[in-house]
Amino acid sequence: LRVLGIEGTAWAASAAIYETRDPSVGSADEHVAIESRAYEPSSGGLHPREAAEHMREAIPAVVDWALDHARERAEKESLPGDAERSAPIDAVDASTSPRPQAPVDAVAFSRGPGLGPCLRITGTAARALAQRLGVPLVGVNHMLAHLEIGRHRAGFSDPIGLNASGANAHVLGYRNGKYRVLGETMDTGVGNAIDKFAREVGWSHPGGPTVEAHARDGEYVELPYVVKGMDFSFAGLSSAAQAAVADHPVEDVCRGLEETIFAMLTEVAERALALTGRDELVVGGGVANNARLQGMLEAMAAHRDADLYIPEPRFLSDNAGMIAVLGAKQFAAGDTLAIDESAVDSNYRPDAVPVTWRADPPR
Ligand code: ATP
Repeated sequence: LRVLGIEGTAWAASAAIYETRDPSVGSADEHVAIESRAYEPSSGGLHPREAAEHMREAIPAVVDWALDHARERAEKESLPGDAERSAPIDAVDASTSPRPQAPVDAVAFSRGPGLGPCLRITGTAARALAQRLGVPLVGVNHMLAHLEIGRHRAGFSDPIGLNASGANAHVLGYRNGKYRVLGETMDTGVGNAIDKFAREVGWSHPGGPTVEAHARDGEYVELPYVVKGMDFSFAGLSSAAQAAVADHPVEDVCRGLEETIFAMLTEVAERALALTGRDELVVGGGVANNARLQGMLEAMAAHRDADLYIPEPRFLSDNAGMIAVLGAKQFAAGDTLAIDESAVDSNYRPDAVPVTWRADPPR
């Protein structure tokens, strides 16, 4: 099975080829190749129109790269059936569908959540491509892809997922055919809160890595810690950090910001493990690149005797590899989309997705 994934929800125009003999399990011989182009705002944060312009230019380029890569793999006959795929697609009678010469079996794309103008461009590209290649279209929830890539690579059966990304923050657990949102942000996404602080301080986007570098030399400054039930709030914390720079060295504020935010995420993730009785945790999203967050989660997991899996960096920040992998699972489960029902959804919640690709674990 070979699947093309396309990601274009916000800043990363990305395409990937995922090749496997069995998408239900992560295995040593599976192949994931990713090509991404990042949008770098001219100033300030992400501008939706500029980001969409980036998608318009960069999506065709990364998709071309991925299809070339898929053709090279098919010529090497990496998978059963590759011998029949050698003819160029344009040489094939357009009326025959599916066309065995297509170098991929399905086209998967990020359907949401994300910036509407970006999603629409990505969705249009995915639909056109699926039709041209004569292969099924698969709509992937971007937040579940952040989580499922960790579950897949770790080989975990039923983990709690912590998504710490730019525009979101979720703690998720699977039950009876759906991922349930056990905790989430009540306002801004966790990465956005860090980026906003960084912008106010005068640092370029994305601010997370710069804040991390400064926090290493800082002394902890107390900032508002807001966990309500299982939900977190980051907006007031980000504003308080911006104000604290007037009275404290910026390194100290960065340290306080990281300690506070990451302790909040760790607390809710731990509570989710305790309440559900599960002993596996996977992490996803760009903020999970942060070494201090990783360290806190490692300490908490070790303390609880739980297994923690943090995907390698190429699978953390937005990337099409995670879309191709979850897309392959959905495709194998028959979870494909008719073109006229494939509209994107900028508020596509992870708990709105019927989970077709995994069975209920024994309890
Ligand atoms: P979503 O996935 O929710 O749509 P997104 O596309 O903005 O949001 P990601 O690509 O997962 O999110 O992550 C980007 C975020 O990760 C940015 O906010 C960035 O500052 C943050 N980030 C990246 N590296 C680090 C780091 N080392 N420490 C903290 N934050 C980081």
